[in-house]
Amino acid sequence: MKTYILFGPPGAGKGTHAGAIAEKYNLRHISTGALLREEIAAGSELGKQAKALIDAGELVPDAVVEGMIENAFDTVKGVDGFLLDGFPRNLQQAADLDAILAKRGEAVTAVVALMIPDEMIYTRIQGRALIEGRADDASDEVISNRIKTYHTQTEPLIEYYSKAGKYHEVECTRPTIEENRANVLALVDSIA
Ligand code: AMP
Repeated sequence: MKTYILFGPPGAGKGTHAGAIAEKYNLRHISTGALLREEIAAGSELGKQAKALIDAGELVPDAVVEGMIENAFDTVKGVDGFLLDGFPRNLQQAADLDAILAKRGEAVTAVVALMIPDEMIYTRIQGRALIEGRADDASDEVISNRIKTYHTQTEPLIEYYSKAGKYHEVECTRPTIEENRANVLALVDSIA
């Protein structure tokens, strides 16, 4: 099984391009953020606990998202691998993912990083707020905190995966989704 990590700051386009990558390479797209939003919508205990953290732009506990990932690894069949979107998000999660995969005789295949500058994060997320209505897209303060969380907790993964020779980056700053998607797919083609 292949394990690709779709990486990048909030608003870079991970969710926008994941479907096309997953389809092309027969991967199951797993977005921890989307799974958490499903839990919130279903009113589950887990969803209730996660909501306050998500709405504040903070990370939920590692054990929560790692449980979701292991559950997917255990249950999903009929694909050539996984496209992890929004996971791992800190160094502990990255180390835990390595351990989870090692237990299964597997390893991270590659990290595909979609990059945009911080200024663009605001405009992208403000645009998405009008379409998707996510609570954590609604206020500038929460968006700022998510950017801060990204820089402090998630960005160190760039060095972690670069050292492992697994980090690949593509700029997603073109004005149209199609242009960015072509660049993203070209990058994945070059490493697949
Ligand atoms: P996303 O849809 O990836 O932007 O995620 C939305 C929110 O869900 C994040 O701001 C976090 O609060 C939470 N979340 C998603 N993935 C993770 C993760 N791997 N670790 C901790 N929190 C996460």
